[in-house]
Amino acid sequence: MPVFKRSQQDSLTGLPTRDVFVSKANKILLRGSSNEYAAVYMRLVNLGMYIVRHGRKAGEEVVVLIATQLRENPAIEAVGRLSSGSFAALAPVNRVEEALGAINHLLPTFGETDGLMLKGGYCAMRNDLTLDEAMARAHYAYEDVRIGSPAYSRLFDQGLETVYNRRAYVVEHLNDAIARGEIRAYAQPIIRVLTGQICEVEILARWKSDEFGFFCPDEFIPELERHRLIHQLDGEVVRLACKQWKEASDLGINVPFGINLSRLDFELCDIFAVVIEHMRAYDVPVDQVHIEVTESALAQSNSLLLTGIDRFRRAGFELYLDDFGSGYSTLQVLEGKSFDVVKLDMSLLREVESNERARVIVADAVSMVKRLNLQTLCEGVETEDQFLFLKAVGCEKAQGYYFSRPVSHEEIMEHLEDTIDLHETPEDKRYYDSLGKINLIDGTRSSVHGVEAAHFLGTQPFAIVEVRGQSVTFLSSNAAFNRFVESSLARSIEELVHRLSDDLSSLRNKVLFSASKARVTGEAQRFDFVMEGNFLSMGISYVEGSEGREAYLMEILSVTKYSQFNDFKLLEESLRFLYTIFKRIDLLDVTDRTWRNIYLNVPRYNALRAGATPQDEIVAFCETFIHPDDRRRFLEFYDLTTVERRIAKQGSVHLADVFFALSDNDRYEDQLFMLIPVSMGGHKQFLSCMRDLDISGLTRQYSGSSERISDEVLLSGILAVTERLVFWKDDKGRFLGANERFLDYYGFLSVECILGKTDEDLGWTRNAHFPVDEKKVLAGKQVLDVEGYTCRREELRDIRVSKMPLWNEGKVIGLVGFLVDVGPHVSKKDSKETGDE
Ligand code: C2E
Ligand code: CA
Ligand code: CA
Repeated sequence: MPVFKRSQQDSLTGLPTRDVFVSKANKILLRGSSNEYAAVYMRLVNLGMYIVRHGRKAGEEVVVLIATQLRENPAIEAVGRLSSGSFAALAPVNRVEEALGAINHLLPTFGETDGLMLKGGYCAMRNDLTLDEAMARAHYAYEDVRIGSPAYSRLFDQGLETVYNRRAYVVEHLNDAIARGEIRAYAQPIIRVLTGQICEVEILARWKSDEFGFFCPDEFIPELERHRLIHQLDGEVVRLACKQWKEASDLGINVPFGINLSRLDFELCDIFAVVIEHMRAYDVPVDQVHIEVTESALAQSNSLLLTGIDRFRRAGFELYLDDFGSGYSTLQVLEGKSFDVVKLDMSLLREVESNERARVIVADAVSMVKRLNLQTLCEGVETEDQFLFLKAVGCEKAQGYYFSRPVSHEEIMEHLEDTIDLHETPEDKRYYDSLGKINLIDGTRSSVHGVEAAHFLGTQPFAIVEVRGQSVTFLSSNAAFNRFVESSLARSIEELVHRLSDDLSSLRNKVLFSASKARVTGEAQRFDFVMEGNFLSMGISYVEGSEGREAYLMEILSVTKYSQFNDFKLLEESLRFLYTIFKRIDLLDVTDRTWRNIYLNVPRYNALRAGATPQDEIVAFCETFIHPDDRRRFLEFYDLTTVERRIAKQGSVHLADVFFALSDNDRYEDQLFMLIPVSMGGHKQFLSCMRDLDISGLTRQYSGSSERISDEVLLSGILAVTERLVFWKDDKGRFLGANERFLDYYGFLSVECILGKTDEDLGWTRNAHFPVDEKKVLAGKQVLDVEGYTCRREELRDIRVSKMPLWNEGKVIGLVGFLVDVGPHVSKKDSKETGDE
């Protein structure tokens, strides 16, 4: 009679089923014995994983093995199988641990972290407990040991009892609590990072019971979810939130709020209808409510949740993805679902102050979220440093104890009434949301005006400035910008702001002029200026405007500050930047009467014959490219004998003027020419730079501050702008880095191939004068265009090398070299080479 048998006994293991076990155990308990018994709940942890790896049959074998062991274990007096991997038993309290330990030692993958383990919870039998009640408590104790504990068993003791009773209370008394008003809707402010103002609040449930005092959400939310009652709580919280919003609104305070919805809300009721109903009852507009759904809910996404979210979305609610980065994260969570805000889990922020990696992760997360055209809100901000960090990486919103804990409706109302003039209006929200789209990390912005993510001004220091009438203020800036301001412009952003507020400051006028031009034309504007001895270029681009204020993205770059060259990345970026500024740079040596092109972007300007003097070149250039009307003025401008006098008269560091010159498209256009005196090794030299003119009005009256540019710095900076192969070394002649071009040239796969190596290490000993040159450079001199030759991929090539010292705080810390390939190697008797070939 197999059917009968199966209902008594489990067919796989032969163990009794639950009912049979219960009646058997009860009989033992009734007999009474000197033993103090415990009800035991056990479960095979990681059975699913084991079956995936080893197959169903292997899994069944383990289950059978355990069943046999349980049956034969002398400590266990009754046992039953509850489901595939779980068992119930009756055993003396003091022998449970021993029994579980013994069985675990027999399991096949014993010892591995994700290996099979039989874990159990047990509860001592008492007169006031039925076996079922004891089993429920044993199961509860099992839950405790299952999560993260290396032990196999856990006794349901006094500590668990307290928690258990509180949880049981929660489940049994939810309806009473709602009826008695024990559920509260607390509010925690959310701060707009750009302004520091409250922009919204998050509603968080609180439960204050007469019997047990305060319950925290971590106690009751999971329990209500487990018992599928969570929708009742959430319905009440939404009702309270709407009611509170209405009370505030009647006082003229309109602060949007967010509510937390559980995944189960979407299964257990029509949560959309519930929310809408309460909003209607209290006249809450849809733009005042946002919905938070956790990442974990989404990760186990079911269609009810997805369609539910979609209904909210289509009704115009903003959607927040909660707890992003708390563990389940994959970017796929965001794919195809339209969220507005991603809430970064507070675990991400925890390590930010002490851990560089954590900073990178948060910065990347913010940047990545922006690229998806969403905003970021960081939770759990507890310190000023954390807040400043979020500001620097461009996180839009922040929430945490640093600003405020969740507080009662009464408390938040008090605060909101006190700050009523400071609340964000819907227009503020539109404006700041738009600014929030700017990615301060790389200066890109996602569709501000529906435009696809556009590359903005390069990867450099960025700030967002606000212009109101004639005043210019900084809304935010990235870390690179702050560093830059402090090292090159002013002691701090505050000082820069102060300068920008000076009516007479020419910088302020340039900013305002370019800003308005950027707004009108919709194109980024760039202008040059000199400050604190640095030659600088500023880019300004319009972002958004609202009610008499306009926001701009500002980028500042330094042409001259290349003493920080030991950072390879910085050099690369600087090169890229200089390419964009100038079309052509020449070094004119008056003492030597030589002329040298350093950088050329427009092939047609390359008109020169070898051996020409600066004067020859100027005249030739003038006749070929300058419009006849401007030729006289051009020659006067380039009169090298009077440059210094003219500069001194102007009180500036260089001369600049605009001439009508043939541009690349064969038309005469305004071009800016600059002459910057530099003095090197006693030679009188001028850097001649030319570029397209974009802000003619400004540049015609071009004048810098009276500061002197440090010549070495300037020259090394300009020389860096080159098609040349660039490398760098420390003061022991070891390579610190090189540009891609250099690596390509020699066929190195990566910079690692040369890092830390000297020329000898690399077998480059052909040019005996190179080490001598390097010594000179390290003593603070420059060597320019020294001839030599090199073996490149088994081919001898002639090269010219320039080397300049890298200065840091007055000391030479290394050198930077620029190398030009002149062609195949030609043996020359008089050449300097003393190679070993
Ligand atoms: P959550 O949505 O991630 O809420 C943020 C939690 O972090 C809140 O805990 C808040 O009090 C806490 N918190 C805020 N700032 C800081 C901080 O600076 N440091 C630290 N350490 N903690 C901070 P709370 O109120 O205990 O809520 C816990 C979770 O319970 C919430 O996490 C949310 O998932 C859930 N919850 C709360 N209210 C409701 C509700 O009405 N419905 C549903 N379904 N879930 C809710
Ligand atoms: Ca939340
Ligand atoms: Ca959260």
